Formats: sequence, C-alpha cells, structure tokens
Amino acid sequence: MSGVEFTSRIRAIPVYPAAETYEYGGELVKLASNEAPWGPHPAVLEAVDAQLAHLNRYPDPTATHLRRRLAERCDLPPERIAVGNGSCEILLAAAQAMLEPGAEIVYAWPSFSMYPHLAAMTGARAIEVPLDAAGRHDLEAMAREVTHATRIVLVCNPNNPTATALPVDAIGAFVSDLPRHVAVILDEAYVEFSVMQDPDESLDLVRRHPNLVVLRTFSKVYGLCGLRAGYSLGSADFKRAVDIVRQPFSVNALAQAAAAEALLHQDEVERRVERTAVERVHVEAELAERGLATTESQANFTWVALGDREEAAVMRGLGERGVIVRSGTDLGGPGHLRVTFGTRAENDRFLEALDAALAA
Ligand code: PMP
Repeated sequence: MSGVEFTSRIRAIPVYPAAETYEYGGELVKLASNEAPWGPHPAVLEAVDAQLAHLNRYPDPTATHLRRRLAERCDLPPERIAVGNGSCEILLAAAQAMLEPGAEIVYAWPSFSMYPHLAAMTGARAIEVPLDAAGRHDLEAMAREVTHATRIVLVCNPNNPTATALPVDAIGAFVSDLPRHVAVILDEAYVEFSVMQDPDESLDLVRRHPNLVVLRTFSKVYGLCGLRAGYSLGSADFKRAVDIVRQPFSVNALAQAAAAEALLHQDEVERRVERTAVERVHVEAELAERGLATTESQANFTWVALGDREEAAVMRGLGERGVIVRSGTDLGGPGHLRVTFGTRAENDRFLEALDAALAA
C-alpha cells in the first residue's frame, strides 16, 4: 500500500477484463480479442515505415490528412469526423463531455465491456437493458428507459459479445423516436463483417440525425489494433466536445499514416470479410455438430452457449491446449464462450482442443 489517496471513482471503475495469457510451450492460438488473424496490408506497412524517420516531431493534432480521407470515403464533412486513439478513446471522451452525476446512460447488457466504465468514471447512472432471447438489443425496452436525464444511449451493432445485429432501419426508427437531447452512439466496431446489409447504410442516418454518432475502428477488419486508431461520425458539436476533453496529440503519427493508407485498400477489406464469412460458416457448422448453439453472428466472432458443460472447465481445457478464447462470465454472459474466427488452421485447432476439453 502506498498510503496516497485516490478518488472514490477509482473504486467504482471496473477493471477491463483483458484476455488471459497462458504459459504454453507451443504456438498459442489467440481467439480471445476479436482481432484480425492477418497482418496489415503491405502498403500500410510502407506508410508506417515512411513515418519512422520523423518521430522526433509531434503528430498532426488535427489528423487533417486522415480526416480528409475519411470524409471522402464517408461523404461527410471533415468537421463532423473525430479520430481517436482507438474508438475506445472516443467513447471515454464522450463520457467526459456528456456525463456527470445526475445524468444517465442507457445500454444493452451483455455488451462491450467498456460501457460500464462510462458511468463509473463520471458518476452518472448506468441503466443496463437485457438483450432479448436471441442475444439482440431490445430497442423498445431501451427506449422505455430514456428520461429527461438521459444523455447517452449506446447501441452496439453488431453487438459484442453476442455477435448479433439489427437492421439499420430499426435503428433509424429508434433514433427518430427518441428526444433530441439524447445522443445515440452507434458502435459499429464490427460493421464491415455484417452480411445483413451494406455496412455504409448507417451513414445516411448520420446525415439525417444530428444527435447520432457512429463509432468505427481500424482495429478489427483493417487489422491495426496494435496502433490504436478509431473514428466517429457525428455532429460538428460532438467532434469539438470530444477534442476539448482529451490531450491534443492522442493519435500517434504511425496510426494516422497507417489508417489513411488502409482506407485506400477496400478490396483488401472485402477479401477479409469474405474469408471471415467462410470461416464463420465452417466453425458454426462444426459447433452445431457438437450440439453447441450459437447466436446469429454478423461479426468476426461467435457466442457459444455451453448448455450443461461447465464453463470454467472448458476454458481450462482450451487453455491447456494453447487456445485462448473469452469466458462468458467475464463478459456478462455466464455459460458461454466468445470465440473469434481466425485462420482455418487456428479454427481447427480450436475445434480439436474443444473436443478434448469436452471429453475430459
Ligand atoms: N467497440 C466495440 C464493440 C469493441 O468490441 C471494441 C474493441 N474490442 C471497441 C469498440 C474498441 O476498439 P478500439 O479502441 O480498438 O477501436
């Protein structure tokens, strides 16, 4: 104990449940963090390389080049685009900018493990609305929780950890029915993987609703989570507020260059999405053969119901065989596993390890 004093918020903020690492002699199969199994595009590596000699300089605090590329790609003015040190930073900044004691935030549960931090770090009240039986957001129930004190409603689509998605029309109708003082943050970290509809349909909603913020990331399909870059598309007011509450140089020069280059390679995005969809079908079919139910995944991971199998024992069995997935208990859904789709070889190692773990 150091003897120094911390704020009461420190006790309130939950510890982010990072994936465990295991002592294992061989090569680990990491299917615990919804990462891409493939490294960045070669042109992205070159763009990063070109920045290395200039690291004596601070990065562009306005990320002008990256925001301009995003503006072209999303057909929205750069004034409405904020970039962050991962989309997580924008979530935390939104909380700093909009929440305080007396304010309320509404989100589904189980959903992304960062969401509970937003209320805890600001003293706002969190209202967690259970997902429906199919693991989807229950938008009607969420709308019923909105009051004059609500500042933020979070919608995670596709949802982490259940991988389910709602159609954009349903989200549009939900936003239309809410009062204008409520910011709806639509977290689309996995939207590129959804085959339900064109991922860019939600951009029309941003044009129509000034209180809507779409949050996206370079961490998932672009395979850049090690660099930390994400962005939001919302009102110019939202962008300004987010910029005010955080440090000026939060998105580093390598991340800015990599993200700007990655946007130019949409063919690579499509290829990754297709390969992921093939793995999704393979893994889901194999799990079904073992009598394990999954939700309808529109993401690069699946949510597996373990039925009468003991979650901790299955996790241990997988870990002992060098396969890391996420335990449902850590993510708000006991009796489940969240498993990222990797390469075919990784997925087959997971399935083999699962058979051994279930047989033990
Ligand atoms: N939203 C969701 C739903 C996520 O799952 C994640 C990453 N796990 C993020 C946001 C944050 O991603 P990043 O900060 O890497 O952009």
